Order: sequence, then C-alpha cells, then structure tokens
Amino acid sequence: MYANVLQKACIQCGLCPTICPAVFSLPDEGGSARAISGEIPTELQPDVQTAADSCPTGAIQVS
Ligand code: SF4
Repeated sequence: MYANVLQKACIQCGLCPTICPAVFSLPDEGGSARAISGEIPTELQPDVQTAADSCPTGAIQVS
C-alpha cells in the first residue's frame, strides 16, 4: 500500500495525523498534510485506510 495526499484538496483539518501520525503529518510551517513516501508498513495499513475513508475532502489516495 502507498498513500498520497492531494495537496489541493486538503483543508488541513488535522484528522489524518491524529489517526495515523506515523504516516501523516501537517508541516509546522503550514500547508497541506503529507504522507510518508514508500510502502506503508503492514501494521499501519488499517489506520491509513481509516484516515483515507475519514478525510472530509477525499484528499487521501491509497493504492
Ligand atoms: S484528513 Fe484530509 S483534509 Fe484533513 S488534514 Fe488529512 S488530508 Fe487534509
């Protein structure tokens, strides 16, 4: 599994870093959420899926 945040769609609500802080973060300097690059570790995949399903703007893509 890979995760990507569509920068233009993110409204910086803070939900995804709350659900899965190991993968998602909001930059200290402001701006859209970011996901780690590379493959998501197996144990984190359920939380990443939950974050993607919960994002209010559908900004998180998983593949
Ligand atoms: S849950 Fe969606 S809108 Fe909220 S910070 Fe994460 S990517 Fe942005």
